[in-house]
Amino acid sequence: MPHLMNTYGRLPVAFTHGEGCRLFDEQGKSYLDAMSGIAVNTLGHNHPRLVAALSKQIGRLMHTSNLYHIREAEEASDRLASIAKMDEVFFCNSGCEANEAAIKLARLYGHQQGIDQPAIIVMEQAFHGRTLATLSATGNRKAQAGFEPLVSGFVRVPFDDLAAIEQVAANNPNVVAVLFEPIQGEGGINVAHNKYMRAVRKICNEKNWLMMVDEVQCGLGRTGIWFAHQHADILPDVMTLAKGLGSGVPIGACLAAGRATGVFKPGNHGSTFGGNPLACTAALTTLKVIETDDLMTRASELGELIRDGLRHGLASADGLIKGVVEVRGDGLLIGIELDRPCGDLVKRALAKGLLINVTVEKVVRLLPALVMSDAEGAELVALLVPLILDFLKE
Ligand SMILES: *Cc1c(COP(=O)(O)O)cnc(C)c1O
Repeated sequence: MPHLMNTYGRLPVAFTHGEGCRLFDEQGKSYLDAMSGIAVNTLGHNHPRLVAALSKQIGRLMHTSNLYHIREAEEASDRLASIAKMDEVFFCNSGCEANEAAIKLARLYGHQQGIDQPAIIVMEQAFHGRTLATLSATGNRKAQAGFEPLVSGFVRVPFDDLAAIEQVAANNPNVVAVLFEPIQGEGGINVAHNKYMRAVRKICNEKNWLMMVDEVQCGLGRTGIWFAHQHADILPDVMTLAKGLGSGVPIGACLAAGRATGVFKPGNHGSTFGGNPLACTAALTTLKVIETDDLMTRASELGELIRDGLRHGLASADGLIKGVVEVRGDGLLIGIELDRPCGDLVKRALAKGLLINVTVEKVVRLLPALVMSDAEGAELVALLVPLILDFLKE
């Protein structure tokens, strides 16, 4: 018996190796991977350029410390600042840590403005992580249950609802920031309107609040552009990244721009592992391959292809068949909402050699690697559509 803590409901499979968008289990069975380790394996499995860059780095230097200068971190920060058009980067090791940094930054920013009890606006159905502060920011009562007392200082509003934010703006002088996902991932692939993001930007400017976007899942090319908020042509003050940044090597980042720069001083925040040479080499290589292989265009085109294929396969005379509420998302962040709980589809897909996920009980979620081919995308649709059709017939 393994001595792992019982924190996950795991599927009955273990993988031994992978190649591109394929994974192989202990029996040698092959699977089409439409999950990418929850949006982590940006470059798929065993990508030759990533393997070469990491192998070389492992042979030279994996870790020193933030007691010293780290050139790989400096270079990765330059690259991220350039593509995000932002100014500063703090490296950590995961999404929740990136959000912890953002939350601490917002609080410090508030205190620096003379606000002693700073509050951050967060959204219903939001997911920001599992640490105490990020769990408190998360909009999921089930995930929070049993961990009270939660961290205070969060004000919750409905997602993509401008009037709700305006109301808080009019009534709560303690607010210092708004934190939201441009596309909610765990919350069911809910896409914020560009108009909403632009209006939030405007309120943040007027109220001197920090606009903080959590792009841990939707960022880094997945929606056909470097970052999902860029579809609205706005610049946030703070952005958090993790998942896809290192293509499987743990790394997170909290970026700051404008009024959020210069808030942290030495001693305010830190991380032992954060920004080490190995993780930053993974990030630099991931960013380089996304750019040189034009994987953003790939994500956008393949996303269209997959969504079109799904809509076609699940079509009735007047729209979608009964039982399918919506096919939505952007690029390779795809959700298929059904009108009933459909968690069982995950096991059925597994049996057919396909890796998918269901979130908020009713939304089938697809997060393919940015290197998936058109043929693999078509295969994904061809495998998934009959599974959904059969499931809805029962
Ligand atoms: C996964 C996720 C997180 C948490 O990331 P971890 O690396 O698991 O801590 C935070 N925000 C969003 C939007 C996520 O999808």
